[in-house]
Amino acid sequence: MTGERVDVLRLGYRLGRDPRITTHLALVGRALGADRFLLAGDKDPKMFENLDSVANRFGGGMDCEHIKNPMGWLRRFVEEDAGDGMPGVAVHLTMYGEPFREAIPRIRRDRPMVIVVGGAKVPGDVYKYSQYNIAVGNQPHSEVAALALFLDAWYGEAGSNRSFDDARLIIEPSATGKSVRDLDREEEE
Ligand code: SAM
Repeated sequence: MTGERVDVLRLGYRLGRDPRITTHLALVGRALGADRFLLAGDKDPKMFENLDSVANRFGGGMDCEHIKNPMGWLRRFVEEDAGDGMPGVAVHLTMYGEPFREAIPRIRRDRPMVIVVGGAKVPGDVYKYSQYNIAVGNQPHSEVAALALFLDAWYGEAGSNRSFDDARLIIEPSATGKSVRDLDREEEE
């Protein structure tokens, strides 16, 4: 994407319970405009391999990283260094926050951003460190839905229409069925 880097940080990941929804979270991030997926909680190299495999086939890259101390990481991100030696912007998605469409116009776009989503229990420090606590409706639902709606509002059409470098499989939009170019097969022929 053009513009500053956008990370998604998923807190409190539990092996065994969360792989499917967390894979979906990373895929939604990739598809709608995020650049990196950061996972706190249990380590899961297998999930990172699956995400890599999607990127290998459908293009683009999504850097995935395990974060050992997410509260330390978040504090440093907002107070000291978002990767370039200057503080960044943290947006925490929570049903307790302020309405996302009202908040988005106030969020600066000239700094890297991390979008934080919770798991079973969100530590209180997340509310303190995040400059924005933002709700996608004040009802409990899903981190995947919250991320999708937030990224759509943040990027508009540019998010879901983003292009991916070095794709081997390219889906051609079709109103009537599946149309997929397989570049590996085309090169063999
Ligand atoms: N029990 C958790 C808590 O203490 O907040 C919430 C668990 S919820 C299944 C997982 C995550 O989904 C939340 O941490 C939040 O990031 C996101 N989420 C759920 N509903 C949301 C909403 N209405 N707006 C924004 N994010 C939401």
